Amino acid sequence: MGPHPAGAAGAAGAGAGADGHGGSGAAGGHDTQAPGRLVLVATPIGNLSDLSERARDTLAAGDVIYCEDTRRTRALLSHCGITGKPLVRLDANVEARRAKELIGRVRGGQLVVLVSDAGMPGISDPGERLVSAAARDGITVDVVPGPNAALSALVLSGLPADRFCFEGFLPRRGAERRRRLAAIGAEARTTVVYEAPSRLAATLADLSAGCEAHREVCIARELTKLHQEVWRGTLADATAWAAGRDLKGEVVLVIAGSPPAKAPDAGLVRFAVAESLASGMGVREAASEVAASLGVSRHYAYEIALGLRRESS
Ligand code: SAM
Repeated sequence: MGPHPAGAAGAAGAGAGADGHGGSGAAGGHDTQAPGRLVLVATPIGNLSDLSERARDTLAAGDVIYCEDTRRTRALLSHCGITGKPLVRLDANVEARRAKELIGRVRGGQLVVLVSDAGMPGISDPGERLVSAAARDGITVDVVPGPNAALSALVLSGLPADRFCFEGFLPRRGAERRRRLAAIGAEARTTVVYEAPSRLAATLADLSAGCEAHREVCIARELTKLHQEVWRGTLADATAWAAGRDLKGEVVLVIAGSPPAKAPDAGLVRFAVAESLASGMGVREAASEVAASLGVSRHYAYEIALGLRRESS
């Protein structure tokens, strides 16, 4: 398959361009002059109406579509009235191997589309390695953004979204799981985790043990689908809630950040410094001792020690 006819360029280029000024967009400016490109297209996470017009046009214009599950993508295409499109299966196991072939197609002038089963390709789905290989090779990569479970759950949670962490799927067991759970326990930002429903109760119990039990959590299940459910409460209550349920469907956990450590009361710091000075320590030594035991800055403890020494002289 060679370079694209100009007609298809019109279809894929509908809407604003990458620069926001309309005309031939990065995913759509695909004509006989333009080199080929790789375009990542986001697809619905449950509700087929969430497929954007630009996503549909790009799927229609693609010379070939790389996808995780050809049957699933074929169903999406037939929902859009797109038939006869060549599909190539690409799952995490063959991603690296497929890169060379895919880059060859793009070099030959093809519009190569990458989709995953649902949501944004590359987010807990294949994509990252292909994009990095393509970028290394200097070929044009573009994205048609759209549905994503993590961001949908985050904004529905009501938890701070100004800064957040995405943990994807936690390891199922072992030291790396413990390390990641401990990191979530200490994390000040909101954390988003993908989890299988069958493992939700165990993960909530582990999080409860590793975080403060009153930490807020949101469980977002079956987003955009008929049985969408958004549960909000504490980790302790969530653990009890999930333990008695045979949950089905797809789940995202959004966990509130660790509350900032409370600064020790100024009177307590003053008392501790006075005690250290009274035991015969010098100003510097007393400041270091109190800084280490109460978790305040050495400079702060030093200023207090200095003040106390002046007052007593
Ligand atoms: N690439 C996808 C995205 O952009 O969201 C994520 C793919 S990852 C393999 C699948 C996980 O995403 C599920 O196990 C679940 O944690 C989450 N997920 C996907 N669709 C969902 C939905 N409709 N409701 C809740 N969680 C969903």
